[in-house]
Amino acid sequence: MNSITDPKTVLITGASSGIGEATARRLAALGHNVVIGARRVDRLAALAVELRAEGAAVTPVELDVTHLESVRTFVEAALTEHGSIDVLVNNAGVMSLSPLADLRITEWEQMIDVNLRGVLHGIAAVLPRMREQGSGHIVNVSSVSGHRVDPAAAVYSATKFAVTALSEGLRQENENIRVTVISPGFTRTELTDRGGSTEAQAAARAAAEALAIPASAIADAIGYAIGQPFDVDVNEVVIRPTAQR
Ligand code: NDP
Repeated sequence: MNSITDPKTVLITGASSGIGEATARRLAALGHNVVIGARRVDRLAALAVELRAEGAAVTPVELDVTHLESVRTFVEAALTEHGSIDVLVNNAGVMSLSPLADLRITEWEQMIDVNLRGVLHGIAAVLPRMREQGSGHIVNVSSVSGHRVDPAAAVYSATKFAVTALSEGLRQENENIRVTVISPGFTRTELTDRGGSTEAQAAARAAAEALAIPASAIADAIGYAIGQPFDVDVNEVVIRPTAQR
């Protein structure tokens, strides 16, 4: 199973489904130690049982990225279990699509809290340690919506544009820390299952059903970026279905 010579300790937020879960599977299969966080701990526990049965080192931790203390506890658990933090994958995200005129303000705030504030909390929780050890890698999952804006996706896009901006700032300020932005297009996950206006969410679901690529395609890209030598920083990867406009 172990096909790498330098196993890393990789923390993945939002690992209870979709891209985060696929990334945990991929990195565990490569031989990395994975620390998986999300709110649905039953899902994390089941994934840990499955991956451990295949010989992987997996630590499931309850995590709500909207609370800085929860993210700090997640990071502490990784340090206690594995003694180091090599990579943080800031993947947790929510997408509630609706026109601005609907004023679904609670959902706007939730997207800001998870997609932007959650990423900042992740950075805050690992950056001092990574700077101290003189190495580290932060992978932020943005979106094709971090590169373009579509109707009903203004707030979601705003959070993802912000992730791109802060990733670039993080990169410029830290010469020993690698920073990667992963921008998926339509990917088969649970992302369209919650929130948003019925119409906008149904349109996104229909487009995803017609076009979407598997979450493993995104996990492979994350695995590629992590697997590069220390002096090679893969800064940005956009991965979308071939037929996506
Ligand atoms: P899923 O809905 O399948 O996964 C989202 C993950 O985020 C879940 O594990 C969920 O876990 C977690 N999450 C949500 N809120 C929180 C929170 N407050 N604290 C901790 N974890 C949280 O969707 P995807 O896999 O698609 O989403 C992963 C990332 O990929 C997101 O950032 C999304 O924006 C991005 N993306 C997805 C695309 C797609 O087409 N699917 C396209 C472009 C980008 P739980 O509910 O258990 O806490």
